Amino acid sequence: MRIGHGYDVHRLAPDRRLVLCGVEIPSSLGLEGHSDADVAVHALMDALLGAAGLGDIGRHFPDTDDRYRGISSLALLDRVMALLDARGLRLGNCDITIVAQAPKLSPYMDAMRDTLAARLHCDPGRVNVKATTEEHLGQVSTQGIAAHAVALLEETGPRIKNL
Ligand code: MG
Repeated sequence: MRIGHGYDVHRLAPDRRLVLCGVEIPSSLGLEGHSDADVAVHALMDALLGAAGLGDIGRHFPDTDDRYRGISSLALLDRVMALLDARGLRLGNCDITIVAQAPKLSPYMDAMRDTLAARLHCDPGRVNVKATTEEHLGQVSTQGIAAHAVALLEETGPRIKNL
């Protein structure tokens, strides 16, 4: 088994969509970023890449590359899963914590989990999504949204070398 951790922050801004775990959430503020700025999927991808020993999303999908401008982070997640699949790695489970003062995210938790499970090709029971505020104590969660993720990967067979 292999474990990985990911962390990301994006700043809140007007005139941007708020997309978390692939689910669009009604909000007067969205997240700034080169892609759709889905901070939760970014943290998850970093956890998956970390567990696989493959660096981070900045290395695979640089924000200087116009091909990734405005792209759905779920499309990037598909590419990460293809990298893992090629190495004989599959998801054991993952756990994501979104840190946001607002908006209230609990109505969207099940949709977030199910959306991710579909893209991760796994049972929803292997995916956990939760959210917390920082009780108005955190600068990050009042000006932006942060996300932490951990992922466990299982080696399913002989690893393909030098991919
Ligand atoms: Mg990011």
